[in-house]
Amino acid sequence: MLRSVILAAARSSRVERLVETAPFTRDVVRRFVAGTATDDALRATRELVGDGLTVTLDYLGEDTVIAEQAATVRDAYLELLATLSAAGLTPAAEVSVKLSALGQKFDEQLGYDNARAICAAAAEAGTTVTLDMEDHTTTDSTLDILAKLRGDFPGTGAVLQAYLRRTESDCRELATTGSRVRLCKGAYKEPESVAYQSAVEVDKSYVRCMNILMSGDGYPMLATHDPRLIAIGQDRARWFDRDVNSFEFQMLYGIRPEEQARLAAQGHTVRVYVPYGDEWYGYLMRRLAERPANLAFFTRALVSR
Ligand code: FAD
Repeated sequence: MLRSVILAAARSSRVERLVETAPFTRDVVRRFVAGTATDDALRATRELVGDGLTVTLDYLGEDTVIAEQAATVRDAYLELLATLSAAGLTPAAEVSVKLSALGQKFDEQLGYDNARAICAAAAEAGTTVTLDMEDHTTTDSTLDILAKLRGDFPGTGAVLQAYLRRTESDCRELATTGSRVRLCKGAYKEPESVAYQSAVEVDKSYVRCMNILMSGDGYPMLATHDPRLIAIGQDRARWFDRDVNSFEFQMLYGIRPEEQARLAAQGHTVRVYVPYGDEWYGYLMRRLAERPANLAFFTRALVSR
């Protein structure tokens, strides 16, 4: 119920204006978002890499409706990749992109062209791109674009969401040599016809999908903060004889940093998803919808001012 209310607020421009102008907002945003500019992204990346972590950077933005806006997002990635490369932070840092921010929803070819330009810049910088997964209406289009991009840039990664009923089958398709697949639970509000609704069902699906990926030939990227799923991931690595370099854990910036450090100290690759940019509102609201404790953090920031 609370989750539905917050996810509805995520789509409301009135609530967005209220939150953006509230005096407490800056501190809350800072916990989950690295900042607004390329320099902020660079600083956060330097710190994380210095701490033995790896990074994937997300220039915030989604649901772009005009070509100029999509070009602005593309150019922000091109600038970011050149900056990371010049700073010697590739390949430790790669980028994550949302195709809807690149025009996918109103012109699929434009979304592909912009994503292709980013993949080419990433290859030039000696690193990779992962395509974020958005709501289920975009899954087929995103996987089609992934297949085309992988023709020229085989290291391009995909994201699969365990809450979708189709995902086990998608995992089977993508558990192949050279394929990088980030497995997450899924962050959007989806109808029962396409997605499991209860936490238990989603967790069980996550484990089934993880079994397919960890027993397959690709490079699984286990994106979760869930201690049980992390422990099962480590168990499956032993069971399927995977060494620590053949898969990785991923977590979001600002969430369970002590767990990120603990896994890295055990020799695991841990990649932190670092969002930055002005368009932080939708991202922040999805984080708040995920966990009541995050909402409590937000409220504490409100009352302490
Ligand atoms: P949850 O069910 O949120 O949490 C499970 C448990 O983890 C909690 O009970 C608690 O024990 C622990 N936990 C969680 N948060 C905290 C916290 N703040 N402090 C302490 N303990 C905590 N979703 C998409 O739909 N598309 C994407 O492309 C996408 N990319 C992602 C990339 C990365 C790297 C990550 C980590 C997530 C991504 N997500 C994406 C979001 C994802 O789908 C989930 O919404 C999000 O990760 C929360 O799920 P969870 O697995 O962490 O488990």
